Amino acid sequence: MSRLFLRTLRDDPADAEVPSHRLLVRAGYVRRAAPGVYSWLPLGLRVLERVEAIVREEMDAMGAQEVRFPALLPREPYEATNRWTEYGPNLFRLKDRRGTDMLLGPTHEEMFTLLVKDLYSSYKDLPLSLYQIQTKYRDEARPRAGILRGREFIMKDSYSFDVTDEGLAASYQAHREAYVRIFDRLGFEYAVVHADSGAMGGSASEEFLAVAETGEDTFVRSPGGYAANVEAVTTVVPEPIDAADVPAAHAEQTPDTPTIDTLVAHLQEAFPREDRPWTAGDTLKNVLVVLRHPDGTREPLAIGVPGDRGVDAKRLETQVSPAEVEPFEETDFRAHPALVKGYIGPAALGSESASGIRYLLDPRVVDGTRWVTGANVEGSHVIDLVAGRDFTADGTIEAAEVRAGDPAPDGSGPLELARGIEMGHIFQLGRKYAEALGLQVLDENGKLVTVTMGSYGVGVSRAVAAIVEGFHDELGIVWPREVAPFDVHLVVAGKDPDLLASAEGLVSDIEAAGITVLHDDRPKVSPGVKFKDAELLGMPTIVVVGRGLADGVVEVKDRATGTRRDVAIEALVDDLRGVCR
Ligand code: ATP
Ligand code: MG
Repeated sequence: MSRLFLRTLRDDPADAEVPSHRLLVRAGYVRRAAPGVYSWLPLGLRVLERVEAIVREEMDAMGAQEVRFPALLPREPYEATNRWTEYGPNLFRLKDRRGTDMLLGPTHEEMFTLLVKDLYSSYKDLPLSLYQIQTKYRDEARPRAGILRGREFIMKDSYSFDVTDEGLAASYQAHREAYVRIFDRLGFEYAVVHADSGAMGGSASEEFLAVAETGEDTFVRSPGGYAANVEAVTTVVPEPIDAADVPAAHAEQTPDTPTIDTLVAHLQEAFPREDRPWTAGDTLKNVLVVLRHPDGTREPLAIGVPGDRGVDAKRLETQVSPAEVEPFEETDFRAHPALVKGYIGPAALGSESASGIRYLLDPRVVDGTRWVTGANVEGSHVIDLVAGRDFTADGTIEAAEVRAGDPAPDGSGPLELARGIEMGHIFQLGRKYAEALGLQVLDENGKLVTVTMGSYGVGVSRAVAAIVEGFHDELGIVWPREVAPFDVHLVVAGKDPDLLASAEGLVSDIEAAGITVLHDDRPKVSPGVKFKDAELLGMPTIVVVGRGLADGVVEVKDRATGTRRDVAIEALVDDLRGVCR
């Protein structure tokens, strides 16, 4: 450590929101170069390389072959799949000196597809799985939490190529199993959940989420084993209701009720129900947003949800992707005089209506359901407005928030909510990319057929942060042994030259046994500071060479449990062999 390029910091970086960001910077593993862009320092690089090695071993073991593509890519392939446009502002685009458009690769489906097309032409060449561990670029809207969400990051991406759907299913399954082995080895608690395939298109898709309260993803689980990202949860749609005896809709004065709470309170007082009190769930809330399409056009959209639920931003984003969601501004209200803020009702919404704004309903708003909603007049609401009878919309949308207790779509019980960090994602892409780029091979009958593909990603740099999210305490990082930069942190507690010499000897003996050691030999640093650094840096085993040496013992401490033991010097190497296995 006297020569290691390292400065540990006493204070947390000002922009750090989560423990992994705080600790990786303080412990000198990474350093910010620009927002969302990080440099790896010697200790950090060792961890990153160990994570890479685990991923590489498991990918090789499942028969995938490693390649490496450039990050600097031509525009044409991404034009052919429309992703040059669809990626929107997330894509780093640049021009070379001749004015030719290029990009920094956010993911490489196009390039792999073209390479296979370039070299292969027969079903006999397939199945094939290729992978790379490589740097990706995405101009994320919200780079955050250090390396958890970077604008430059390292991903393992692989792609499978098959002739038949069954072949694709088998390649997908092989990747799934490799991922289970990778994430088991990385050590954190994780969940495999159904995912929406979003902008990628295609069908089957699952995500591997590291379970963490600081995670950006919300997922659901049921007692019966259903697990899904909230973005992929589908609503259990109730049966239509017979509304024959519901009275005709009637508009009523409801002054000063622009919010659901004020409306429910007013209904309770002015129009009490006989059967039960009014609830927010009796109201239909119409939420306005603007969609920004990849070509730059803006389209207003109205979403009708039961008033006891909000619109979930991520679910909405997934549904409207590749369009992005922007707020409906004052100027948008002025452009649509038919809309009365706070009192918007279905009569003013829909492509056939005066506003012409596309109107989509939550799937729970089935025919026959009965609602209180805006009358499109300041201070007025309509009561007994029946879906199907009194209003219709342009369609439905899965954008309402998912709540604990909602039924699982497969009938496996009530959902429970948890948070996680997306660590891996596996997709059955199907023939979308192969079709767009013309990847065909001759089948057994000499007929040209389009290849079917899968695409599979692991966030390699993100995994380093996710491991720290799962393994730290108030003192610092607690690395799982599989990825720790060193097995042992050996602290010399004292300045006596004899002590230092004995420590040097011990380090050589331990290293000779194939165990890696970080030796804190700094002569001018106090034992207290060394101990603090050892806790912060997080090697799984700490050996203290100090006063006990006179009696022939050193102290061996387990970083995770804090337990300390005295071990005789002659027995140390064997002892560590057992611990570090
Ligand atoms: P997210 O939903 O977190 O933005 P994504 O769905 O866009 O991720 P994929 O395209 O599926 O990500 O990429 C595969 C993997 O790469 C992800 O599962 C994640 O682990 C990792 N990854 C994606 N974006 C980033 C990023 N900005 N920084 C670090 N890792 C990332
Ligand atoms: Mg994903």
